Amino acid sequence: MSNDNGENVSVHLLPALPYAESALAPVISANTIGFHYGKHHKGYIDNLNKLVAGTEFAGLTLEKIIVKAAGDAKNAAIFNNAAQAWNHTFYWRSLMPNGGGEPSSELKKKIEASFGTLDALKKELATAATTQFGSGWAWLALEGDKLKVVKTGNADTPLAKGVKPLLTIDVWEHAYYLDYQNRRTDYVAAVIDKLINWSFAVDNLKR
Ligand code: MN
Repeated sequence: MSNDNGENVSVHLLPALPYAESALAPVISANTIGFHYGKHHKGYIDNLNKLVAGTEFAGLTLEKIIVKAAGDAKNAAIFNNAAQAWNHTFYWRSLMPNGGGEPSSELKKKIEASFGTLDALKKELATAATTQFGSGWAWLALEGDKLKVVKTGNADTPLAKGVKPLLTIDVWEHAYYLDYQNRRTDYVAAVIDKLINWSFAVDNLKR
């Protein structure tokens, strides 16, 4: 049994943030990241460890727990905490200080084949993120050979549906409320413009 890094997963650990808590400011403040990473993300991992102890899910990777528990009402709490643990690690890596701008030519060509232009993708991603009703996530994903934008509610994740996520934006209120209050549109626009980590999407494309 091993996780992505080939390590034992007897206990799920909170992965280190790939940058300092202040590194995404002023788009996302250190205060927001402090709560979001240190309280929310950590909370999902702590809850998951308690929920899986002594069950058939103990020792499985997050990915395996997500696929196994998906759509199974009696394991909804395990699914929600495993998916939120996974989604958040993926979200931190979808962002970077001084992100945004243009993806590499390889990804850009793929974007143009699926959406026409990079701006069309950005617009579709922003629309998905702002129109997701209530809590959830907006994703750039690969389904078959085609890129698509999808949104998921609450803890749900494309992983549970066999669709490969390339990057994500968290649109739960805890992701932006301290900095933007009700202005989710402003948070989403700033993230896409200034923080999106296109290199991470390329890495995922090749995985
Ligand atoms: Mn979150």
